Amino acid sequence: MAEFKDTIRAAGGRLDYLFQPDGRLAYQISGDMRALYMVAVSMDGSHFLDEVPAVGIGGTAVYRQPSVVAYVQSDEQGMWGRNCPACERYFRTTHISHDSVCPYCARSAPSLTFISKAQRTYIAASYDAWARAMYTHKNTSLSLDDVTDKTPAWHYSEEKQQTHFKCKTDRCGVETDILGIYGFCPRCGRTNARAAFSDVINRMLTRWDETKKTVTDRERRAEIWADLTVKSVTELETLAKHLRRRLLIFPMTRKRREELEALNFQSPLEAGVFLRQWFDIGIVEWGGNATAPPRAFKDTEFPFIKKMLQRRHLLIHNSGVVDEDYLKLSGDTQARLHEQIRIPSNEARHFVELVTEMGINLLDGIELGIVEAK
Ligand SMILES: [Zn+2]
Ligand SMILES: [Zn+2]
Repeated sequence: MAEFKDTIRAAGGRLDYLFQPDGRLAYQISGDMRALYMVAVSMDGSHFLDEVPAVGIGGTAVYRQPSVVAYVQSDEQGMWGRNCPACERYFRTTHISHDSVCPYCARSAPSLTFISKAQRTYIAASYDAWARAMYTHKNTSLSLDDVTDKTPAWHYSEEKQQTHFKCKTDRCGVETDILGIYGFCPRCGRTNARAAFSDVINRMLTRWDETKKTVTDRERRAEIWADLTVKSVTELETLAKHLRRRLLIFPMTRKRREELEALNFQSPLEAGVFLRQWFDIGIVEWGGNATAPPRAFKDTEFPFIKKMLQRRHLLIHNSGVVDEDYLKLSGDTQARLHEQIRIPSNEARHFVELVTEMGINLLDGIELGIVEAK
C-alpha cells in the first residue's frame, strides 16, 4: 500500500489518434488501464464542455458536440486527483461526473471545475495530439505507461493522501483519499466522520481497558487518565470543526459567519448554546427524527462535565496544579489550592463517553436534522 505523499503512477495505457482516409479521426485505446473518463473539449481547445465516465465497447457516452474528446485514465488505484475550485485543496476520488462536493470545505460545484492541474496539462497535451493528427493527416499517440518518457506533459501521477475512505451511504460507495481524518463524500456529500470518530473513540476506550488491566504504576495510570481527558475534547473539537464546514456553506450575514468561525469547541457547552440558537442543533441533545429517537443529557451530568472541562484546562495550561480560577469555576469542592489534581479512572472513562455523545449529537444534528426546503 502506498504511503502518504507517495506518488501514484497512472496505470499504463496508450491512446492513438488514427487518421482515417475520409478525413476523420478515430480513437484507439490500448494497454493496461484501470479506468477512464472523457472530457469533451471545445473545438478550439479553449474550454472544457463535459466530463463523463468512459463507456465500454458498444456503449454510448453522452456529451456535448461538437467537441474533441480527451481520455483521462485513472492512477493505478482507479482514482483521479481533484482540486477544489473553491478552497483549491487536493484530493483523489473515484467520482468524476455530474457535480462534486469538496471533502474539505463541503462546497459543491460541477465536477469539471474539480479537474486537477496535472490533468489539465494532460488534457491540453491530448488536445494538441488530436490537433496535430487532424492538421498533419498523420496518426499520433499518447503513451502513458512510461514515466521516464521525454514528454512528461503526457504523463500525470497523483499524490497519495492520508486517509482513504469508502462512502457508506446506500448505493454510493465512492472512494476518496484526503489529507487529515475527516472528509465529505465527493458524490453524496455525507461525511466519513461517523465511522472515523467512532474509531478514534474506540481506540481511547481500548487504551483505558488495557491500562486498567496491565499498568500498575500509580503515576503512569494517572498520566493516562489525564491524557484521555485532554484528548477526548481535542477529538470532539476536530470533529466539530469539520462538521462546521457544512454550516458555513449556508448563506448568512458576515457577522454571523465570523461568530460561527470563531466558535470554540474546547468549550463545547457554550458552543452548543450558540448552535442551538442559530441552527437549532444541539451538542448536549439531539431532537430526534423518524429513525433516531431524541436524546438529551441528564441535568445531573452538567456539574461533572463542567468540572472535567476545567480539569482539562488545568492539565493543559498548569500541569494540573490547582489555581484560584479552577477553584472558582470548577465547582470542585475536594481540590486544594496548589495541589496537583488526579483524575479517577472511572471519571476519565465516563467523560470520554459523554464527549462521544456530544460528537454523535452534533453528527446527527447536522447530518440528519437539517432538511431541505419544501
Ligand atoms: Zn474545497
Ligand atoms: Zn457518498
